[in-house]
Amino acid sequence: MEDTKRKGILIVVSGFSGAGKGTIMKRLLEEYPGQYSLSVSATTRQPRPGEAHGREYFFVSVEEFEKMIAENALVEHAKYVSNYYGTPRAYVEEQMALGKDVILEIEIQGALKIKEKFPDALLLFISPPSAKELKRRLTDRGTEDAAAIASRLSRAVEESRGIEAYDYFVINDSLEACIAQVHGIIENEHSRMNRNQEKIDQMRQELSGFAKGE
Ligand code: 5GP
Repeated sequence: MEDTKRKGILIVVSGFSGAGKGTIMKRLLEEYPGQYSLSVSATTRQPRPGEAHGREYFFVSVEEFEKMIAENALVEHAKYVSNYYGTPRAYVEEQMALGKDVILEIEIQGALKIKEKFPDALLLFISPPSAKELKRRLTDRGTEDAAAIASRLSRAVEESRGIEAYDYFVINDSLEACIAQVHGIIENEHSRMNRNQEKIDQMRQELSGFAKGE
């Protein structure tokens, strides 16, 4: 049987701010080169120290962001703690067409919009082992002041109400174990019956050809 190209999966990764999503995504990209593409979002928030335009985010003004919305250049967008965040459409479409597993690291409102538009999307929610640990990680990061931490924690309360809409709940206790688990879930997802219809049809067709003595 000739190998039909594996179809890419659109993967949404969300998690409470401080759950360690960013690190997990970076490591997945490093460890499985060629398989994953990470979408870089546009945002109106200020860059944190060490963040670069085009790498962590495309940092844009509110006017620029609203223009992107008007031009339908975003697959989804949402407001999070008084800033806009959105997923540029062109990159997602281009990478999906190449058969890549495209990862969107976005919050819950955006995740739900993606599920609506792309019912085959795989939604993963990453959580630290406990609320106490989440607070500790946010505080230790040292990039946000007390007010920003408080608003991220109250946002986490809101997000915890919508978790059931996701397909998987993954606990990030040990980083290595979590990376392996996330990759494993995605690999298993590729084997799902409904993601392999083309291959099944091809197999059937070739088998019936053989059965007829072709
Ligand atoms: P941060 O400011 O900590 O980088 O991100 C804040 C939240 O915005 C995180 O939950 C992050 O996943 C989410 N986010 C980042 N990019 C996007 C995006 O393009 N769309 C949506 N809906 N959320 C995003």
